[in-house]
Amino acid sequence: MTLMIRVKEGQCNCGCGEEAGRDFRQGHDAKLKSALIKAHLAGEKVTVDGRTASARTVSERRGWGHFLQRASERRSGGQRRRVSVKVGRWTYDGEVVSVKGGVAKVRFATRDGETRTVERAVNEL
Ligand SMILES: [Zn+2]
Repeated sequence: MTLMIRVKEGQCNCGCGEEAGRDFRQGHDAKLKSALIKAHLAGEKVTVDGRTASARTVSERRGWGHFLQRASERRSGGQRRRVSVKVGRWTYDGEVVSVKGGVAKVRFATRDGETRTVERAVNEL
């Protein structure tokens, strides 16, 4: 999945296609922001006027990098998703401690009680 944003001259930059005197119609910057955050957390690419980049790059161009950062932190600090991870021949119950660019860090305890972290693609969890 890719977030597609098409903006023509004089149109709102969120890609809604409505006319706007400035970059955005009122409130539409928030719409674009939340779409970028969603794409970022899912590890999806963003296409703006036919050019594809990461959600992070597109956001940083607008000075919104910190919104994505905060969303990632909130996701990792909030309710942690419980998942099963297979490591070697064992399957462990772990929890997602962070998600970045479609890669999740999963923390789990080994049979010896040792805490370990592995990385897994989000879409494999
Ligand atoms: Zn708009």
